[in-house]
Amino acid sequence: MQQQIIFSLILFFSLSGYSDPLMEPTSVSKNLYPNDILVGNYSDDIDKPDNFLDFGYGERVANPKQITDAINAWSLQSDRIKVVEYAKSHEGRPLMAVFISSSDNINRLSEIQSNISMLTDARNLNDRKAMEIIDNLPAIAWMAYSIHGNETSGADAALGIIYHLIASNDSEVLDMLSNMVVVIDPMMNPDGRDRFSKSLEQYRGTAPNYDDQSLLHTGDWPYGRTNHYFFDLNRDWIYLTQPETQGRVPLINKWRPQIMVDGHEMGPQDTFMTGPPREPINTNIDKDLIKWGNVFAQDQASAFDDRNWRFYTGEWHEDLYPGYSFYVQFRGTLGILYEQSRMAEDGVRRPEGTIQSYKESVHHQYVSTISNLKTLEKNSKAMYKDYWDGRKYNVSKNGEYSNQTFVILPNKNITRLNTLAEKLEAQDIKIYKNVKPIKVEQVLKQNGVKEENFTIPVNSMIVPNLQPEAPLIAAMLEFDAEIKESVLLEERQVTLKNGSSIMYDTTAFNLTMMYGLPAVTVPENIESGLINWELEASEIDTQKSAVMWVVDGVDDRSVSFAARLMEQDVQVRIIDKESTLSAYQFSRGSVAVIAMDNPNIENLNDLVNIVATDLNVSVYSVDSGFGPDALPDWGGRHFRLLNRPQIALLSHSGFSSYDVGVSWWSLDHHLGIRHSQLDASLVNYGDLRRYNTIILPSGYSNINSNQLSIISDWVEQGGTLIAHNGSSRYLSSNNGIGSVKTVQNTFDDIDDYNIDLQREFLSLDEMISIPEVSNKLSLEISYPWELSKTKYTKDELETRDKWQSLFMPSGAIVAGRIDSDHWLTFGTPETIPLLYSNYPVLMTGGNSEAAVRIGELVFSDSNEYRSINWSDIPPNNDLNIKMSGLVWPEAAQRIANSAYLTRERYGKGQIILFSGEPNFRGSSLGTNRLWLNAVIYGSGLGTSSMVNP
Ligand SMILES: [Zn+2]
Repeated sequence: MQQQIIFSLILFFSLSGYSDPLMEPTSVSKNLYPNDILVGNYSDDIDKPDNFLDFGYGERVANPKQITDAINAWSLQSDRIKVVEYAKSHEGRPLMAVFISSSDNINRLSEIQSNISMLTDARNLNDRKAMEIIDNLPAIAWMAYSIHGNETSGADAALGIIYHLIASNDSEVLDMLSNMVVVIDPMMNPDGRDRFSKSLEQYRGTAPNYDDQSLLHTGDWPYGRTNHYFFDLNRDWIYLTQPETQGRVPLINKWRPQIMVDGHEMGPQDTFMTGPPREPINTNIDKDLIKWGNVFAQDQASAFDDRNWRFYTGEWHEDLYPGYSFYVQFRGTLGILYEQSRMAEDGVRRPEGTIQSYKESVHHQYVSTISNLKTLEKNSKAMYKDYWDGRKYNVSKNGEYSNQTFVILPNKNITRLNTLAEKLEAQDIKIYKNVKPIKVEQVLKQNGVKEENFTIPVNSMIVPNLQPEAPLIAAMLEFDAEIKESVLLEERQVTLKNGSSIMYDTTAFNLTMMYGLPAVTVPENIESGLINWELEASEIDTQKSAVMWVVDGVDDRSVSFAARLMEQDVQVRIIDKESTLSAYQFSRGSVAVIAMDNPNIENLNDLVNIVATDLNVSVYSVDSGFGPDALPDWGGRHFRLLNRPQIALLSHSGFSSYDVGVSWWSLDHHLGIRHSQLDASLVNYGDLRRYNTIILPSGYSNINSNQLSIISDWVEQGGTLIAHNGSSRYLSSNNGIGSVKTVQNTFDDIDDYNIDLQREFLSLDEMISIPEVSNKLSLEISYPWELSKTKYTKDELETRDKWQSLFMPSGAIVAGRIDSDHWLTFGTPETIPLLYSNYPVLMTGGNSEAAVRIGELVFSDSNEYRSINWSDIPPNNDLNIKMSGLVWPEAAQRIANSAYLTRERYGKGQIILFSGEPNFRGSSLGTNRLWLNAVIYGSGLGTSSMVNP
């Protein structure tokens, strides 16, 4: 014992005497900003924010636990507060909505909420009653912050605002709370914030760092912006794929706030931006909201002027995409955006030499919030009246929504239909089903073609637009969002001048195309012969006596079914052609589990039952392997044995975190099977033989030539390599592997590509013609390539391509046509909508196949071959490219007939390239299916199978 003490003393002396002490900084950032954020006459019964932090309030970034602890403590200390935990993040952190009002109002929250609900549906309420309700309603404000986890100042402001509102005894605050319910969602993305606040700790040194390029400010890949699966939660408000949004949206929808503030941060050298937005503005947004947006902005601007703070409105803030937090605007709520320049936590040095502190950035969000609350307090009644007018308009027989119904055609893909139904119902949208066929006229199809007479088949999903949530229905389901002529003009000008765009997000987003579900728009209000839509249940029949159990290949969950059984060592087959077995009809790509293949598994039928029940997918017992006529029989080559995929997803710096994250998410949420996410540098020294399927998400500087040669060897040995967008661009470049090329690298032998394409066209049923077969040599054969008139030289093609590439879309939907014999297209309709952006334009030649090409063939009167760039369109056909969003004609020409999805044999393995990002936002379910086919079926169907001797 004594020895130990002596030893410690020596250690103590040596540390203090001879080691290098931590140097004191010459300045500290907390002295940069002398102003107090919290000013008021505060009650001593409520803990100050500082009590939950180990620094002064606003001086540094509060981490998620500190914020949660403070709110939990305050909920016990104050009667002005009620906390609702509306979700848990993927990593298990609580998401909280903090309701603050007078204790009277807090005690009658449910009564207030039900009065708000009564104003929702103007079909059930007259004006007099509505005014009575409005007279007694408090204002409702929804103030939400830091949805991007590394945009931290909003959540710190929220902490102060909650304290101020529950602790202040100033009459200004007390009056406000007796007339208003303020809901504060302090941190909308706790997992991202935790990641970023951790990196702040890791990179914090002795002296403050004001250099916005340093790691302290930027953090590490995948950065703090996104949630656990690297999703941008501020694009998820209509797609509802993440638990944070799935919990939040129903609560906001229930409360129908009058304003919704969304507090963000932007580039560190910027100032502060708020609403209202500039064009393009989605035309389904009520104009009254734009008017109110200006009222709020004016008050906020004078609050900033008073303090000498710089700011602006509009500029880059547009509002076309409805999946931002401002989806609320389609429901009558005014959305207000804050964009504060990012200060990390020490502050940022600016070009004029000054340093803006973190505390000041928190103060900006705080002052903006208080200003907006005051403006709402003044104008709440008038805003409610405008809101009520809007509610009446939405269901008016004379309004713009009164003659439009969206119809999703019947589909065996129950999983996808159910997903769509859930997303619509979460937004209070009513959906129906027709019990009899309905004859309608002038329907608009997804490809833009109008059909004069159309019969809606029984059991279609019917969504009349004439409903209380009419504007949101239109925004989510209209095939094309209207873009004003003046916006197109400006967009074209900036594109031509400097290759930029005024579109901040995708210009196409409608749910039926994103989901790959065929639908039509009917120009009338369909209301009779309808019953309420109910989620489709599965049929599960797994008799022990059956020779096999089959899941139809149209349902997306058939892939999960196969994957989850293979993971449990069950041998699974795919029937690669349509089949009839025991009187059941199965689509191509149906999954069969055959008892004979699995002699060692006891109670196989029970296992099949459990997996199918978990997935809610229908499964049928089949008693005989005989397929009548020419249909597949179970011993023939159409029952193809699958191979269990062993999946690696390459990841980390150099890859797009969004594309990595969404691929990871799809593996976990659509399949739930084991896989490894690998740091790409591991390719140099790791053992790739553990995997038979490697996914290369989109990236730009992700793998070098040495790594590529290792991967190339691995493919030749039997691996399946799947690449997306940027990685496909690299693999198809002159430094890549395989025979697929980007279009600009093919002009030397472009005729060969056209001839391959013509072979593909001519092999289609509707185009094939049989020449006369006789004994005499025919001297009059016409060859397809001789018939087209326009031929461009290599130079011309290059010049055209350069010009056309200026106009590539930034997120539009184009039509894909599938090779309906290819296993990659199982479960996919003839025409598949493809989300398309500035992707590599892929060309297949030699060995490679195009499973999906761009352009849908539609009938045309023209009976000649016509050329676009390198390819010819056969007689009697037109090619439709655009389905939704902004696709300039030059871009349409450039991408016409190019490949979206390619596959080629490479040694014993294969390379599969997606031109785009097939899993975009977890919501492009049509292309996600192609990807699931590649990941789960690739190893079995596309590589040489190995027999263990
Ligand atoms: Zn943001």
